[in-house]
Amino acid sequence: MNNYPFAEIESKWRRKWEQGGLYTTNMQKTAKKCYCLVMFIYPSAEKMHIGQWYNYGPTDTWARFKRMQGYNVFEPIGYDAFGLPAENYAIKEGIHPALSTAENISFIREQLKVIGAMYDWSKEIDTSSPKYYRWTQWLFLQLYHQGLAYRKKAPVNWCPSCQTVLANEQVIEGRCERCDSEVTKRDLKQWFFKITDYAERLLEGLDRIDWPEKTKLMQRNWIGKSVGTEISFQLAGGGEPLTVFTTRPDTLYGATYMVLAPEHPLAEKLTVPSKRKESALYIEKTRRESEIERTSLNKEKTGVFTGSYAINSINGEKIPIWISDYVLLTYGTGAVMAVPAHDQRDYEFAQKFNLPIKWVIRPEGEELGDRGEAWVDSGIMFNSGEFNGLPSEEGGKRIVETLQKKGLAKPKVNFRLRDWLISRQRYWGAPIPIVYCERCGEVPVPESELPVELPFEVDFKPTGTGESPLTTSPTFVRTRCPRCGDQARREVDTMDTFICSSWYYLRYPNPNYNYGPFDPELVSKWLPVDQYVGGAEHAVMHLLYARFITKVLYDKGLINFDEPFLKLRHQGTITNAGARMSKSRGNVVRPEEYIADYGSDSFRMYLMFMGNYELGGEWDSSGINGVFRFLNRVYRLFNEKGGSQNDDFDLTSKEDKALWWRLNYTIKKCTQDLEGFHFNTAIASLMELINDLYRYSHPRNPLFGFCLLRLLLLLAPFAPYLSEELWHLSGGEDSIFRQRWPTYDPEALKEEEITVVIQVNGKLRSDIRVSPYIGEEELKESVLSDVKVKRHIEGKRIVKFVIVPKKLVNLVVR
Ligand SMILES: [Zn+2]
Ligand SMILES: [Zn+2]
Repeated sequence: MNNYPFAEIESKWRRKWEQGGLYTTNMQKTAKKCYCLVMFIYPSAEKMHIGQWYNYGPTDTWARFKRMQGYNVFEPIGYDAFGLPAENYAIKEGIHPALSTAENISFIREQLKVIGAMYDWSKEIDTSSPKYYRWTQWLFLQLYHQGLAYRKKAPVNWCPSCQTVLANEQVIEGRCERCDSEVTKRDLKQWFFKITDYAERLLEGLDRIDWPEKTKLMQRNWIGKSVGTEISFQLAGGGEPLTVFTTRPDTLYGATYMVLAPEHPLAEKLTVPSKRKESALYIEKTRRESEIERTSLNKEKTGVFTGSYAINSINGEKIPIWISDYVLLTYGTGAVMAVPAHDQRDYEFAQKFNLPIKWVIRPEGEELGDRGEAWVDSGIMFNSGEFNGLPSEEGGKRIVETLQKKGLAKPKVNFRLRDWLISRQRYWGAPIPIVYCERCGEVPVPESELPVELPFEVDFKPTGTGESPLTTSPTFVRTRCPRCGDQARREVDTMDTFICSSWYYLRYPNPNYNYGPFDPELVSKWLPVDQYVGGAEHAVMHLLYARFITKVLYDKGLINFDEPFLKLRHQGTITNAGARMSKSRGNVVRPEEYIADYGSDSFRMYLMFMGNYELGGEWDSSGINGVFRFLNRVYRLFNEKGGSQNDDFDLTSKEDKALWWRLNYTIKKCTQDLEGFHFNTAIASLMELINDLYRYSHPRNPLFGFCLLRLLLLLAPFAPYLSEELWHLSGGEDSIFRQRWPTYDPEALKEEEITVVIQVNGKLRSDIRVSPYIGEEELKESVLSDVKVKRHIEGKRIVKFVIVPKKLVNLVVR
C-alpha cells in the first residue's frame, strides 16, 4: 500500500488557508476570546530547531481544539530580533546584524509556515524594527519619569568574552549564560530598572495565576522575602553602631563574632593599622569573585580580622569583627552577626579561624554536644540567660522586645531581589533615549522625537574597552540638547533585550498602531493572555520582567489588569544522546529531514506522542513510523469507506454497542486530555478508536461512517492538513476548523458497566467498575490509579499483569 500524499496535501492547504484568510482573527469579536501565545522566536542563524517545534506545534494543537470548541482564538507569532546571539553571529560572519537578522527572519517565517499553525500573519512583530523599538524606548521613558529608571555606578557582572555587562539572571554558576566564560566584576555606570519597588506585589500576584508550582516557587525564591529584625551592635571603640539583619534573634546569645562584606563602607575604617595591608589585599581579591561562588556552601571559607570589636547587644560580650566574602553587601545590611553553632557557613568559618562556638538552641528533650556541624533548626533556648527554656519563636520575640525598648532593634523585611540592570555595551539593541548636556545634565529624549534610531553605518564589533560600539559613531553621539539646544552627547548603551520582550504581548492585537505602544481598546478586550506556553528557563527572567512591566503600566492606568499571563505551561526539553540539543554538541535534530519523509502532520503528532509534554524526554526517531502508519490507516479508511454526518442508526448488535461506547469514550478522553496538555494519551485513545473501526464488521452501517467522521474531528487539531483534506473528501464544506468539537453522551459510557476484581500477588485487594469494552491499556491505567491498589504496590516493581477478560486482574509485584 502506498503512503498518503502528504507533501501535496500539506502544500495545497497551506496555500488555501492563507488565501482564504482562515486564521485572520476578527479582533472586534471578543465573545469567548482566547489569546493563545507562545514565546516568540530568536531569529538566530541556527534557524528553527526541534525545541521550538515542540513549543509551537503542540500549542497550536491546543489552540485549534479551543477554536473548534467555539472560542475566538488569537494566535500570533513574532521575532525577538535584538540581542547577543544575532550579534555574535554577525561578528563571526562579518555580516551586518540588521542584514543577517532580516535574512534569518525570512527563512524562519517559511519554517514556521510549515508547522501549519493558525498564526495570524497580519499581526507579526519584529522587535528590531524602529516601528517597534520606538515604543520600547517610550516604555523606558515612562519608567524614567516614574523614578523607576536610574543610573548609578555599581559593581556589575562583566563577561570578558562578550564584553558586556550581564544581569544577575544571566550569570549561571559564575559563568556567562551565553558563552560560558567566567564572569568578573567591574565598577561601571549603568542603568537600572527599580523592580525592587514591586517585590511585594510580584509575590502577591503569584497567588492569583495558574502557573506551574515549580516556576512560582523559583520566582518566590528569587524575590526572596524574609521577615526579620535589624539589630544594632555598639562598637567597642565607640562610633556609629553596626547594624545586622537576622531572622533568628533567638540565637543572639550564640553570636560570637561579626562579619562584614568586603565592600562594606566600614570594612576599611574598622581595620586597625597593623591589619590594613592584609585586609586591602583580601578586599581586592574578592572583587573578582561572583556572588554565587562567594556564597557557595562548598567553598573553603576565607577572611581577615579587622582588629576591632563589637558588643553583643544582649549579653554585653566583646566579640571580634571580621571581613569575609561569604557576606554580601547586596543582601541585608552587608554585615552579619555570626552564630557558628546554628549557621553552617558561620560554623565552617569559626572552625577554620578558631573562633568560639557557643550552643544556645537544642531540640526539645535532647542534648546537642559537638556534632561536627551547625544545628540550624529551631528548638529550645539554653545558655541564654533569662530566656532559657523558651521555644525559639517565643524567645526570639522576647529578645527583640527587650532590645526594642533600648532602641537596639526594629522589625525589618528583606528581599533578595535586586534592581534590574538594563544597559548593555552592545550595538544590536534599542538605544536608551537619554542625552547628556553640559548645562542640563541627564535629559530624556522627548516622546515626540522617538525613535532614537540605531544607526546602520557603525563598526558594530565590541570596542575592546568595554564601551558601547555606538561611541564610534560621531553622527549618532553628537546631538542637540532637547532642553537648551546646546551641543550634547547621546547615551551610547543599548537596552537589554528582555525589555523588548517584557511588553510584546500587548503589541500583537494591533502591531501597526501608531498612537501608542499598543491599541488600548483592543488590549482591554484581548488581554491578559489566556494561555502562554514556553520554556521553563525563563522563570526568573522574562516571566518576572513581563509581570513587573505589566504592573508598572497598570499603575499608570494604561491597562486594566496587572498580571499578563493567566495560565502558563512549559514544554519539556527534548534531549538527544542524553543532553540538551546544541550545535556545539553536534546532537541537533533537524525537523526538515523528518518532514521530508513523513510530512509535517506526522512530525507534529509524533512530538506529542513521544511522551508527557511537560516532561519532554529523549528523542527517538524510531517511533515516528508508528504515527505515520496511523495517519495512513485513517487516510485509507476514508478513501475506501468514507465518513458521514448521518446519525440515523440503531445500536442493535453487541458490536454496535461496543463501537458506540468506544466513540464516546474517545471523545471524553480526548477532550479532557487536550484541556490539560496531555497530548500523548489523547493520541493513544485515537489509535484505539481506529483499531476498533478496522475491526468492525459492518462498515456499510451508518454508525460506521458517523464514527469515522467523528474521529476526523477529533484528529483535526493534531493533524490539521490531513484532516482538512479528508473533511473535503467526505463532502464537507468550508473548513473543518469551522466545525464544532464533538461532545459525548454520558449515558453511553454508563451503560453496562461490569465489575473487575483486582488481586495483588493472588490476594483480593480491590475491585473497579469499567466498561466491558475497555482496552487492555486503559484497563491497566484504571487499575493502577485505584487507591487501594496503589497502597499495595507502593515502592514495588510490577513484574506481571495477568488479565482475565471482563473478570479479574492480578498484579504480580516484588
Ligand atoms: Zn559571554
Ligand atoms: Zn541642555
